[in-house]
Parts: sequence; structure tokens; C-alpha cells
Amino acid sequence: MYQGRTESPYMEGIYLDHLLPLAEYDKIIILFSGGKDSLACALDLLERGVPREKNELWHHDIDGGNLTRRMDWPVTQEYVQAVSEYLGMTLRVSWRVNGFWGEVYRIGASWPIQYVEPDTGEVKECRLSERQIRTAQLRKKNLNKAEREELESMGHRMKFPAKSGSLSTRWCSSILKIEVAEAAIRNIEKLAKDVKILIISGERRQESAGRAKYNEMEIHRTNATQKANRLVHQWRSVIDWPEEKVWEIIKRHHIAPHPCYSAGWNRCSCMMCIFSLPSHWAGIRELFPERFAEVEEDERTLGFTLDNKKTLAEYTGEAESCVCHDDPKAIYQLQSGEFSVEDVEKQVWTMPAGAFHGAKGGPC
Ligand code: SF4
Repeated sequence: MYQGRTESPYMEGIYLDHLLPLAEYDKIIILFSGGKDSLACALDLLERGVPREKNELWHHDIDGGNLTRRMDWPVTQEYVQAVSEYLGMTLRVSWRVNGFWGEVYRIGASWPIQYVEPDTGEVKECRLSERQIRTAQLRKKNLNKAEREELESMGHRMKFPAKSGSLSTRWCSSILKIEVAEAAIRNIEKLAKDVKILIISGERRQESAGRAKYNEMEIHRTNATQKANRLVHQWRSVIDWPEEKVWEIIKRHHIAPHPCYSAGWNRCSCMMCIFSLPSHWAGIRELFPERFAEVEEDERTLGFTLDNKKTLAEYTGEAESCVCHDDPKAIYQLQSGEFSVEDVEKQVWTMPAGAFHGAKGGPC
């Protein structure tokens, strides 16, 4: 059995050799991308008898309310909403304002982080830094030269995330997911202090050499037992599960997986993940030609390619599309973005076409 990492002072500091009994956590947060592994985490908790009202599914909207440009599947928001309703679990959506494309083209400080209060539907904003406040003031103005320089000095992205293992250059995972979750935990009143939180995420060792070395459990970065009496543990509850076990639990609960799997994709979020293989991009070119063309246009505007060496057209080349047409309903759902709670239960459950094609092509 994998013992967990303690090779550096940092890793030693977050090392955790056991969780509390699940009943002792006040809130269990499942990071729910809409993909199969995070769905398996939610179903596993139900099978362990954790009361539904203790669980919250947290979904980070990669597009951050950006209505003009999308990075993610148009159907993902409706899918996560429908599944959470079907499972009787609260869904909390959070995002970085303007999402992936806002960050690609960002000049100035980082965009604010917002989240929805599930009980009221109210959108709340996490506390802003001084740089974010100043950036917001400047963005409203017609800038003179000095102000433009001031804005630029607070941040200048203007590039795609790098296809790299490092989170500082592959910024999408940290800016749009990790930092969003952390800010929400620190800002949501009932999670801020005097609370025990368990965060569950769906990484599996089988997916990559990097993930093979992840701890199953550890102390989360938002843990603040001294300052706020807030205990936060993280548990990768399916880390040792093979893919078979993931599909088995989804089948056992008769849940329709995200339609991208039935349409032939082997992995789910984001739709246009930077790690997508040429066959995935050929699938995007087939089903979402306007999205594909927009990214080609971005490459020209930014003067950078999404791949480290090739343009998107060169990288995709004549690759065969990953799209499988055996399930026209799934393709319709993917393209239209329509998915309702009635679509969740699948009594006649069949293995989706994308299953068992490995974890290549993302996600993070
Ligand atoms: S799924 Fe891909 S594009 Fe999306 S955040 Fe992760 S690495 Fe970035």
C-alpha cells in the first residue's frame, strides 16, 4: 500500500495518516467537475451511509459566466445541476469572473472569485485585494498612458496556459479551480470558523505517473485550526480505484454519465483541455467548428500557439475524430447544452464509447 509522501518539510506538514470518522465532519465537500471520477466519489459517500444533507457538490464553472467565449462543454452546467438534484445533494457553483478566456486575455490584477449561495441563489463575491479594487477602477476608465502602465504592472497574462506539469505556467488548474475552491472556503461564513470540513476529490493513481504519487489524505491548504478553529482535511477517496470500479458504481446507481463519454471522449472537463489529443481536437472541429476556429483566431491574436510547438491546425492535422455516433441523444445534449433531471436515471445502462481508452488528453 502507498504510504504517502513526507520527503520535504512541506509534505511532512500536510501529511495525514488517518481521517476523522466521517460522522465527525460538519461538512463534506465533493469537488464535482461532472466527470466520472468525481461522480464516483459522490456515489461512494452515499454507499457509505453519509447523510445527503451533510454533503455539498462543488462545481467550478471554468467559463465563469463568460457568455461570449466557452472553454467547457455547453452541457456541463445543466448536467451537474441535474445530477445534484437527482442525488438530493446541494450544488454550490463558484467561478473566477470571465473564466478561462478572461484569464487568457487578462491585463491587470486577477478577476474576482464569486460563488452562489445555494439556499437563496444569491451571487456573492470573495473579498478583493487592493490590486483587484484598483484594477476594477481602472478598467472602467478611458486610460491615459500612466494609468495603462499602472494596469499592466498589476498583471499581464495574454497567453495560453502551458502544457506543463508546473501549476505556475499551467495556470488554468490553479487560477480556475484550486484558488476558487480555497477562496470560497475562506469566504463562506459558515465554513470560515469553528468547523470541521472534509474535501473529497476524484484523482486516481491509474491516470498518470504524477497522480500515482498523490497522498490519499492530507491537510488542506485552508486548514486554520489555530487561527479560526477550522479543520480542513482532503481525501482522494477513489485514488486506488481502477477505471472498472468507477464505471461499476455509476452503473449500480443507474446514472447517465456526462454525455461526452457516450460521444467518444475518454475524459471530461474541460471540453477544450489544453492536453487534448489530436483526435479530441478533431472531435471538437467536427461537433463545434466555431469553437475550433475561435482558438485558431486566438493563436493569431496572441502570437502564441496552444500547443508548445504547433498551431492548432498542425497539431490536429488529419487525425481521426474521437466522436462516436452510436448515441445521437448524447451528441444532441453535448451540442445543445440541454440536460434535465429526467435524463439522469438510465435503467438500461450501457458502457459509454469513451470508457477504457486511458486517461490521455487530460484533464488536470
Ligand atoms: S482540464 Fe485541462 S484546460 Fe481545464 S483546467 Fe485542467 S488542465 Fe486546464
